[in-house]
Amino acid sequence: MPAQQEEDLLVVARPEGLYCPPGDFYIDPWRPVARAVITHAHSDHARAGHAHYLAHTDSAGTLRARLGSDIDLQTLAYGEAIEHRGVRVSLHPAGHVLGSAQVRLERRARVWVASGDYKTEPDGTCPPFEPVPCDTFITESTFGLPIYRWPTQAVLFAEIDAWWRANAQAGRASVLFCYAFGKAQRILHGVDASIGPIVVHGAVEPLNAVYRAAGVSLPPTLRADDEGVDAALLKRSLVLAPPSAQGSPWMRRFGNYADAFASGWMQLRGTRRRRGVDRGFVMSDHADWPGLQQAIAGTGAERVFVTHGSVQVMVRWLTENGLDAQGFKTEYGDEDDQETSSSSGGGVGRGQAALDGDAESPHPSLPPEGEGEIP
Ligand SMILES: [Zn+2]
Repeated sequence: MPAQQEEDLLVVARPEGLYCPPGDFYIDPWRPVARAVITHAHSDHARAGHAHYLAHTDSAGTLRARLGSDIDLQTLAYGEAIEHRGVRVSLHPAGHVLGSAQVRLERRARVWVASGDYKTEPDGTCPPFEPVPCDTFITESTFGLPIYRWPTQAVLFAEIDAWWRANAQAGRASVLFCYAFGKAQRILHGVDASIGPIVVHGAVEPLNAVYRAAGVSLPPTLRADDEGVDAALLKRSLVLAPPSAQGSPWMRRFGNYADAFASGWMQLRGTRRRRGVDRGFVMSDHADWPGLQQAIAGTGAERVFVTHGSVQVMVRWLTENGLDAQGFKTEYGDEDDQETSSSSGGGVGRGQAALDGDAESPHPSLPPEGEGEIP
């Protein structure tokens, strides 16, 4: 590539991660680097070992809990900008989880935005996604297939409430498996807490505390071994637990319970079957197909790089719609997909565990993988 053109690139793909050449820093790098800008605290985006971290203020709690209280961390509010080696850097709401941010880079009147993970529908637990005008947009595409269309928040929570209510009336606990960071707090915030008590797994409660400390209103939650939590109470309760709790001895206390799984992958019947649960609620912290397109169009970008998920399909769709689009090789996974990754194919099962707050969860790296196929 001619030097002139190369100079214009504010982000390139390097073996360590997405790299900003003029600023000499990385965005969500997967190998240890000197300077890392972190879009959010899910473990496939926020890794240990960097010398310096820059992230949103609301990510500080989860980052320090996961990576150590002594990390060299600088934080920014949304919209606050710093200048680094001639690059103006600012963070903007991504609507994915608490503290999630898109990274805006500006240099010589050129603007690039790296989205990290994002979702477009507001969920009440973090500031909603904000389209940031740019020349070049770097997008995820976890659910970048036309089959992925999420129910609205209202429809989703009406379904979850009805399921919980019916179980409570039948005298059995409603165990809902969900990712401990982000998904669990969204469920807590959205359900009708008047139906019964809410019991959470030990992996979930520390994240609740981070959300509450950030001012997010969540209903009261109990731990299974709290005083007063007995068989009668459990029979009416909603239980939130990470996927790793499924089949573990921790589940025995609930006796004859109904179970369900909350994930975007629940749109596929095969995934639900493999999970072996009674119900699947289609719920994701990532944008669905219309959401991705809306977000990309909202930036006004002429060039789009696609980092993870259904890269090929999204690149083709964008190209057909007149945009300059290409894939970026990254090592980002999907926090929804902790346990289906090895068994599912067809582009839906990629991704690795990112169970923040779940001590049992390993965080293996995925080999570089940039694209999915149509299932
Ligand atoms: Zn994420």
